[in-house]
Amino acid sequence: MSANPRAPDVAIIGGGIVGCALAAFLAEDGAAVRLYERDVLAAGASGRNSGLLQHPMDEALTEVFAESERHYRELGHGFELPDEPAGVLVVGEDAAALESARAAVAARFPELCPEALDPGAVRAAEPALADGLAAYRLETGRPVPPASATRGFAERARAAGAELLEGTTATPVVAGGRVGGVRTAAGEQPAGAVVVAAGPWTSSLVDPTGRWRPIAPAWGVNAELQLARPPRHALEEGGVEALLSPDGAPGALFSLVTRETSSALGSTFSPEQPDPAAVGPALIERGSRFVPALAGTHVVSVRACARPMSRDGRPLLGPLPTREGLFVAAGHGPWGISLGPGSARLVADAVLGRPAAILPELAAARFGAP
Ligand SMILES: Cc1cc2nc3c(=O)[nH]c(=O)nc-3n(C[C@H](O)[C@H](O)[C@H](O)COP(=O)(O)OP(=O)(O)OC[C@H]3O[C@@H](n4cnc5c(N)ncnc54)[C@H](O)[C@@H]3O)c2cc1C
Repeated sequence: MSANPRAPDVAIIGGGIVGCALAAFLAEDGAAVRLYERDVLAAGASGRNSGLLQHPMDEALTEVFAESERHYRELGHGFELPDEPAGVLVVGEDAAALESARAAVAARFPELCPEALDPGAVRAAEPALADGLAAYRLETGRPVPPASATRGFAERARAAGAELLEGTTATPVVAGGRVGGVRTAAGEQPAGAVVVAAGPWTSSLVDPTGRWRPIAPAWGVNAELQLARPPRHALEEGGVEALLSPDGAPGALFSLVTRETSSALGSTFSPEQPDPAAVGPALIERGSRFVPALAGTHVVSVRACARPMSRDGRPLLGPLPTREGLFVAAGHGPWGISLGPGSARLVADAVLGRPAAILPELAAARFGAP
């Protein structure tokens, strides 16, 4: 720990869902915590996502999701977890391809009860859907306001004594193979440990030389709108896996997540930061093929944000080789709201020197030394 008794024990870089949950857990466990956010809390994807807490399609992440759900049940501070999942309807035009995807999900995740729906059942489940679509239903998906989880954890962190500094850019300071703190415009701020939870910007903070690049942005645009008769389920076009693979070409897939009267229509996937105003009309055009009523709906806002995509689609959690005291908690791709608190708990335990149950396939060290 730092020689300066007033220095924070732990510095966290990034005020998204992961950084704010980390700040809460560490402060509640007695660490002196200072979190640095260059913009405002939840300025990135953690405040602009589609707002769906859903089971990830990856066995290595199932326990992290279950742990996150446990934390969401007790979060409070303005956050409310819906009692029951709304259900996710995976939709598409190719019934055979959808049925083979459903069977694969059923074999891997029977707990999601993947249920094939015949055309009559699709119509009964969601009258808003266009004719001729095939669909299957998954028992998951709790819609929440996009920034509410991050704000709830930020409140909890403050209540436990953490300092959350907005408008403050920070970079880790490493010398002689050990982290000494962070550098801000105000100078060097000593810390015994530094956690980089900076979403898609994590790689360049850990390794400014650019050689270590396991996390890159996949930008998405979402439109927020109000439908007169919104769907009850969360709707998702099948086939997201191809767009999320590191070799995937930029593209778009329809999704629609409704909470009360507000619906988030998604989304695009691109390595470059898009102009939301230019992308919005194409998003609505594509969406209206699935839900015709989208065509004439008033759009409240269109927003862009970046998914922190890792090279293998899994988060990077825990300490880094050759950088004593430097930890990473990032790379959650399209599932960061669903997984963030569970990941933060694991990394908090590692920072506190407790046995942390980080699976080898999620360890930050799997991509080697920065
Ligand atoms: C269109 C879209 C829809 C999505 N929908 C869902 C969904 O429905 N459900 C779900 O589970 N997930 C969803 N996601 C994914 C989810 O939003 C992300 O995985 C998650 O928000 C990432 O959280 P984070 O804390 O790692 O990063 P971020 O939210 O990106 O936070 C990182 C923070 O670090 C700050 N920062 C960066 N550099 C510095 C620095 N040098 N100093 C200080 N601060 C810095 C940034 O300003 C930012 O606020 C969606 C993503 C997109 C793009």
